[in-house]
Amino acid sequence: MPQRRLLFIGAHPDDSDTLCGGTACKCIAAGQVVKFISATNGDTGHFSLSRAETAARRKLEAAAAGRAIGLQEYQVLDHPCGLEATLENRKEMVRLIRNFAPDVVISHRLCDYHPDHRATAQLVQDTAYIIKVPHFCEDTPIPETLPIYAYSYDRFQDPRPHRPDAAVEIDSVLERKLDMMECHVSQYFEWLPWSDGYKDFSAEKMSRAERREWLLRWVKRFEGAAEQAREWLCHVYGPERGRNIRYAETFEQSPYSRTLPRQEFQQLMAARQ
Ligand SMILES: [Zn+2]
Repeated sequence: MPQRRLLFIGAHPDDSDTLCGGTACKCIAAGQVVKFISATNGDTGHFSLSRAETAARRKLEAAAAGRAIGLQEYQVLDHPCGLEATLENRKEMVRLIRNFAPDVVISHRLCDYHPDHRATAQLVQDTAYIIKVPHFCEDTPIPETLPIYAYSYDRFQDPRPHRPDAAVEIDSVLERKLDMMECHVSQYFEWLPWSDGYKDFSAEKMSRAERREWLLRWVKRFEGAAEQAREWLCHVYGPERGRNIRYAETFEQSPYSRTLPRQEFQQLMAARQ
């Protein structure tokens, strides 16, 4: 299989890790080049740190997470939370995608709950056509191969549920995914417990096993993803293995760019021949 380039663009420094970290681990193990971009610096993601302190800390956490699994780069853009799909930001996104020249770009869907996720989704989607327009961002050459675009798994039902065009089992890389997530201490062990109402939560008292168990709260949704894609998992991995897959990250192809036959898209995302 030729070396593929995969670009995951999340709104915040931890989104791609949670949504696509297992897939990224498997692609890297198969020799593919994987980059994550966070479209914002995540500076509102804390309750006691200042916005500047939060952004600085999250940048370090993202870098550590990238090192944990061998990303080519975990780039955190310097936009504060409250991102908007402006023309300037669209130009920045076009340049970033053209410069990396990915085979596939993965981001959120437009129907996401979080305004930063929606703005990121809009910015990424808005590049799908314009990436090949020579007079848009003339300073940045158009890559030879245009990427396909895809959405990571989500549980939103309105206007319709996510469609699992590709499904990647992540049971075999679950520990690696947790290694990556564990780097985002300010989020999984501070901000998210606080915002979920655990006011006296302290990760310092937790054993390593308890910390891993805690992180599984954010992995649980991928049991639902595997269940939704069960028939396809059995087709791809064989009926016996497919039935027993617990967690899967799934991906839907965007109709706003060129698309691949389902089997080819599956091979791209699962880094399989
Ligand atoms: Zn987010």
